[in-house]
Amino acid sequence: MANIIDTNLQFNSNYSKMKTVEGILLHHSGVTVLQTVETIHNYHKNKGWAGIGYHYYVRKDGSIYKGRPETMAGAHCPSVNSTSIGICAEGDFNTETMSEIQKQAIIDLIADIKSRYNITYVKGHRDILATSCPGNNYPFNEIVNGTANNTTPEQTPPTETNEDKSSDIFNDGLVNCIYDIQEWLNRHYNTGLALDNIYGTNTHKALVKGLQTELNKQYNKGLAVDGIFGMNTKNACINVRQGAEGNITMLIQMALFIKGYNLSMDKKFGSDTARIVKQFQSDNGLSVDGIVRQKYF
Ligand SMILES: [Zn+2]
Repeated sequence: MANIIDTNLQFNSNYSKMKTVEGILLHHSGVTVLQTVETIHNYHKNKGWAGIGYHYYVRKDGSIYKGRPETMAGAHCPSVNSTSIGICAEGDFNTETMSEIQKQAIIDLIADIKSRYNITYVKGHRDILATSCPGNNYPFNEIVNGTANNTTPEQTPPTETNEDKSSDIFNDGLVNCIYDIQEWLNRHYNTGLALDNIYGTNTHKALVKGLQTELNKQYNKGLAVDGIFGMNTKNACINVRQGAEGNITMLIQMALFIKGYNLSMDKKFGSDTARIVKQFQSDNGLSVDGIVRQKYF
């Protein structure tokens, strides 16, 4: 039995019930900073959710925290929220490696859940959506097999169109002019732009560098970060559609804003962004489906 700590999190009532538990989905918090279960709970509450989206949160020290009750559908991966248990590991396993104690805690937790349900799969978030979650260094095979070995998991190519919602826990300040865009790009990608509030070649290059950086980081595209939107970058672009959230969405919003479209730059690909994308498609003779493909930068 895994030792599960219950901190009595209080949930709002806007959730669905779990239908059936048939799988386990593995996530990471996507940030290196240490966070309590309450921090994530409050963050998700502030997003308008009932509370923390995961059923369990396993910290780096191996302590296991109860998130939302197993009777509640999760908010961690849209297509399987009401049929799977979500386990989030504290850390960014694209840049960190997992401690043995944390690994063992997740193994114990999975065994615990398996003893209570007929579990037919244990998958990583990235096996279902186009995200790097739970990270390239996540010891997936060791955890799924419940044994220590050194096999590196195969990288699954992205097949879907959502970005990882859990990998960028903190919101950025408001962005609503070229100056803010320059400031945001400098802060995220070290692009060293002069903050002159003018959209010129350097700012365009910085925007493309941001995109290249995100495609490398989230999807292992191995692009040269040169700020040139050439064929390699174009071919590496992923499809992004409503429901996505994260830095790639932010960069798309910035690209549209720069082209003269008035929209919120908030990293969230909601109905507002979808409407603007359709407008852009219509204005440019593209098929109007609201899905961002390769032609936006
Ligand atoms: Zn995830």
